[in-house]
Amino acid sequence: MENPVLNQAALPVFNAILPAQIESALKQILGQNRDRLSELLANSSYSWDNLMIPLEEMDNRLNKMWSPVSHLHSVMESEELRAVYNACLPLLTEYQTDLMQNEKLYQAVQAIAASADYKNFNPTQKKTIENDLRDFKLAGVNLSPDAKTRFTELLKQLSTLTTQFAENLLDATHAWELHVTDPDSLKGLPEQTLKLAEQTAQQQNKSGWLLTLDYPCYSTVMKYLENRELRERVYEAYVTRASDQGPTASQWDNSQVMDDIVKIRHDLANLLGFPNFVEYSLITKMAKKPEQVLTFLNDLVTKSKSFAEHEMQELREFAKSLDQIENLEAWDLAYYSEKLRVTKYAVSQEELRAYFPLDKVLDGMFIVMNRLMGIKIKERTDVDTWHSQVKFFEVYDRDDHLRGYFYTDFFARPHKRDGAWMDECRTRQRLADNTLQYPVAFLTCNFTRPLDDKPALLTHDDVQTVFHEFGHCLHHLLTQVDYSSLSGMNGVPWDAVEFPSQFFEHWCWNQEALTLISAHEKTGESLPETLYNKLIAAKNFQAGMHMLRQLEFALFDFRLHLEFDPNKRAQVQTILDEVRNQVSVVPTPAFNRFQHSFSHIFAGGYAAGYYSYKWAEVLSSDAFSRFEEQGVFDPIAGNDFMKTILEQGGVYEPLDLFIRFRGREPKIDALLRHSGLI
Ligand SMILES: [Zn+2]
Repeated sequence: MENPVLNQAALPVFNAILPAQIESALKQILGQNRDRLSELLANSSYSWDNLMIPLEEMDNRLNKMWSPVSHLHSVMESEELRAVYNACLPLLTEYQTDLMQNEKLYQAVQAIAASADYKNFNPTQKKTIENDLRDFKLAGVNLSPDAKTRFTELLKQLSTLTTQFAENLLDATHAWELHVTDPDSLKGLPEQTLKLAEQTAQQQNKSGWLLTLDYPCYSTVMKYLENRELRERVYEAYVTRASDQGPTASQWDNSQVMDDIVKIRHDLANLLGFPNFVEYSLITKMAKKPEQVLTFLNDLVTKSKSFAEHEMQELREFAKSLDQIENLEAWDLAYYSEKLRVTKYAVSQEELRAYFPLDKVLDGMFIVMNRLMGIKIKERTDVDTWHSQVKFFEVYDRDDHLRGYFYTDFFARPHKRDGAWMDECRTRQRLADNTLQYPVAFLTCNFTRPLDDKPALLTHDDVQTVFHEFGHCLHHLLTQVDYSSLSGMNGVPWDAVEFPSQFFEHWCWNQEALTLISAHEKTGESLPETLYNKLIAAKNFQAGMHMLRQLEFALFDFRLHLEFDPNKRAQVQTILDEVRNQVSVVPTPAFNRFQHSFSHIFAGGYAAGYYSYKWAEVLSSDAFSRFEEQGVFDPIAGNDFMKTILEQGGVYEPLDLFIRFRGREPKIDALLRHSGLI
């Protein structure tokens, strides 16, 4: 009987993926791919059809097997799955580096680039070859045999360390909880949070309430819990996760892991002849020079700082007048900010929740997308998934052609990685028999799950998260590129990847769109005009402080990877302190170890690239300004966005695509205006 993990059907059968069968399935595919490569390289001459297409197919076969496994590892982790996943990582790294360091393969692709056929290739084919030649070099194809071995060894270590980072964080997050038996000490918490905390306690046969470090619980406690001392305890536990500080100090400490990760990245870059990891990483980005990024970020610091200082001063005075708080601490910021927001604008995130039942938000968002681009989204209920909360949808274009599928998994639960993200399950590709493999996406969030028989209710921040991640989904699903290495988000420079996702967030602030995505949980009434006006008035509340927070993360990440010195090692804390001195206007206690949970750069793809969010926001804000000029639901602009940006994958330079859409180069003005920083 065939190993079910090897199933290559259009959609994975999640229930058939058993940890015990994963490693053997992976080994089988890697073995077959290696054999196939030898066969291909035995040809006497090389062409698109006899080399590039089979290579894409090999890659596709591997991705189809591995992506559901990797997804389950993120959202349904078990000890067994973790062990198997970790055992598989070195096999994948070894396979990938062997492939990309294969000189014969490199020469074969070079031969195609030099062949007479090449000039007749279409832009997608040319770009595939161009990227491949670049990536061979970045994978060390030109290195000496000894250096190649070292390069592979470093990559394996890096992959183990980044996984270790994420595991430490997950374990530390779940290791801490606070058992509360006195209801008075929970005053201020919203009903939904209390109920969840009560259920969590009941699940462990405890009376009272359990507060955890799951993000929905943590963030609500920070915003609403009146008891200052408890707020401090939860804050301390959260910002010291996986570190040498706090209640679980040194049990899952990421300090050494981070230091090693930065060192290995530096060594990898050095081996390839780059002075540091930043220079290496910029080769595949839109930004070309480190100075360009630093100037961009520092310029935004300058433009935002006086706004932020003013906002902080206002917050201090408010806390003092309200509760005689003399020293505003880190665990007071969210609490008094939320109170100040309510005082100034008479609108709270919790009050807005009642208007945003998740299902209504989704239905409304699908209508918004339909009006903009003609796409139609239909739910299907006959599909195998990994959890009862998961849903499945089909996407059709205005001509009723199927474009792809996506799964949604919206709620926080144990053994699921924190945060919100889109991931690829299948990538669009024209197969050898000329049939089309449709793209499939995973849309994952960590919202509070529905309680009792009430619907799941979102804050307006959550609503923006849904639009953001759905923007990534559309980029992946609407692509018209038939080669998987350039379809969807593949081949798109990392600092342009957030362009479509941030772009769609703008509709969360439009009154007409809000009418479509809101319905009060009890009355069914859409967001009333009075609340809408308050929401808009509060839109740029503390915009300077929010901007500086993002710039602090971005500068820390960028400088950490730019300034690594083998004699001084990574200097994680030193660089973070320096950046905070330059940028931050808020108090940070000495025990704060935010960096120990900064998964974006230590366990995700944002290393030396966190600046991408702001970089891409220039594009997304400026692209949206065309809709402000022509109408927020203008179908021509909507169609143009789909055709020039979403359908193009990584075939063209993002700057060229932007100019095609906007008719000119991007300007920063719209970003500053939308952020209220002018
Ligand atoms: Zn994103």
